[in-house]
Amino acid sequence: MCRHPLVVDPTSLDSESVVGDECHIISNAKGGPRHDPSFPSFEIDEIANLMLLCRVHHKLVDDQAETYTVDLLRSMKANHEKWVEHKLKEEPEIPAVKIRRMRSEIPTQLPVIQSGKELLNLAIGCHGSYPDYSDDLDDEETDLVGGFIQNLSDWSDLGYGLEPIERIRAAKSLDDEIRQLNGRGFMVFAAKEKQRIEGGISASSNWWVLHLSVKRETDKGIVTVGNESL
Ligand SMILES: [Zn+2]
Repeated sequence: MCRHPLVVDPTSLDSESVVGDECHIISNAKGGPRHDPSFPSFEIDEIANLMLLCRVHHKLVDDQAETYTVDLLRSMKANHEKWVEHKLKEEPEIPAVKIRRMRSEIPTQLPVIQSGKELLNLAIGCHGSYPDYSDDLDDEETDLVGGFIQNLSDWSDLGYGLEPIERIRAAKSLDDEIRQLNGRGFMVFAAKEKQRIEGGISASSNWWVLHLSVKRETDKGIVTVGNESL
C-alpha cells in the first residue's frame, strides 16, 4: 500500500529481518477482521490468504475492516504482484551511470573572456570544470590564478540559487579578478562542453562541463582569428 521495504538486508553478523507483518485477509478469529465462518480453516494460513504489510497498514486494514474488505485486499494484492512483475521485466537491473563525451562537442579552441558576467553565464549550469593554467607561476601568481579559479568554482556551485543582486556582485568580483589577471599579463579563456549522462534510474540528460584556461599572453597556444584571441 505504501511500498515501504519490508525486508531489511542481512549484515555480516545477522540474517535478514522481515520488518513487515503477515496479515490475514480473512481472520480465523470469531469477530476478527473479515471473519467468514464458511472459509475453510485449513486455508487460513495459506499464502493466498496472507499479505505482507507494514505495521501501520496492517493495523489500518484490521481496524477499518468495513473499508478494507476481502475483495479490496485481494485486488490490492493482485495489483501489487502485477506491479512487481512489471518492474522485474522492465528493469532487470539498474544500468550503471556513465558519462559520454562526443568528439564534435569538445571545444578545440577557447574564446577569450573579457567580463565576469560573460564567464559567470558560462559557468552557471555547468556540472563540472576542466581548469587549466600556465605551469610556470611564481608564488604570487599562483595565489592570483588559484584564487580566481576557486572563486569561479564557488560562485558557480551556488549557481541558480544566487539572488539577482548576488549574481551581479559575483560578476563584478570576477570582473575585478579578470582585470587584475590581465594587468599581470594573463588572459582568460573559457567554453562549455556538452556531455551526456546515461544510465541510472532516470532518462539520459545533458551534462555540461566548463573548460577554463588562464594563460600568459605570451603562451604559444594563443592564436588570433580575425580580431579575436583564442
Ligand atoms: Zn504501509
